[in-house]
Amino acid sequence: MARRKKIYEGKAKILYEGPEPGTIVQYFKDDATAFNAEKKDVIDGKGVLNNRLSEFFMTGLTQIGIPNHFIRRLNMREQLVRNCEIVPLEVIVRNYAAGSMSKRLGIAEGMQLPRPIVEYCYKDDSLGDPLVTEEHIAAFGWASQQDMDDILSLALRVNDFMSGVMLAVGIRLVDFKIEIGRVFEGDYQRLIVADEISPDSCRLWDIETGQKLDKDVFRRDLGSLTDAYSEVARRLGVLPSNNVTKPTLIN
Ligand code: 5GP
Repeated sequence: MARRKKIYEGKAKILYEGPEPGTIVQYFKDDATAFNAEKKDVIDGKGVLNNRLSEFFMTGLTQIGIPNHFIRRLNMREQLVRNCEIVPLEVIVRNYAAGSMSKRLGIAEGMQLPRPIVEYCYKDDSLGDPLVTEEHIAAFGWASQQDMDDILSLALRVNDFMSGVMLAVGIRLVDFKIEIGRVFEGDYQRLIVADEISPDSCRLWDIETGQKLDKDVFRRDLGSLTDAYSEVARRLGVLPSNNVTKPTLIN
């Protein structure tokens, strides 16, 4: 088989040139990083779980008409996605106070927010993805006002969908991060949800027990990350219920 052209390698994924124009193969690694890669480990099976979970969430978005990059899953660790130009922003939606917002504003983790709060961070690892305002975004030309209106609308629609899906399986969607891509169709550009949606990029707490089922398990040394992600996958029906701890090698 011909070697594929690697386009980009990030902390959790590798992107390869896709088989058709305008496509990319997204490979999910087992690497876990936190605190801007100061904490690192390889977590057996994480990539398999995130590939399946991101497929599940993106397919759900497609079903309710929220445009996203997902085309189809190729195998255990890879999915075919639309090539897009990533807007250099991390779009964070928060329903409950946690993480950096709690730290920054001194608000207790777990406090329900009066309404979803959307934040933007400038995607730059060397700067630690700093929080920015719409003023910065407009002034530095990272996105236009029309883009920002579309991004806000996409983020809130994803929040409604994800909150509902998780609530149905007894999980609270505390917050999440998405990335947005531009695709060009003739003379027009459209914004779509890109990157991934997985427990790596969400905070997910069991409604009954408050147990953390997301990357905070790794960030805060709270136990087995694959157990936590497998539990999310099992509840959503993404993995068979008798296969709680180890992702199957047969897909
Ligand atoms: P916080 O700003 O509290 O650290 O994160 C808010 C939410 O966005 C959390 O669900 C967190 O997992 C997600 N998030 C923020 N930055 C990143 C990032 O660089 N990578 C990933 N995978 N998720 C992030």
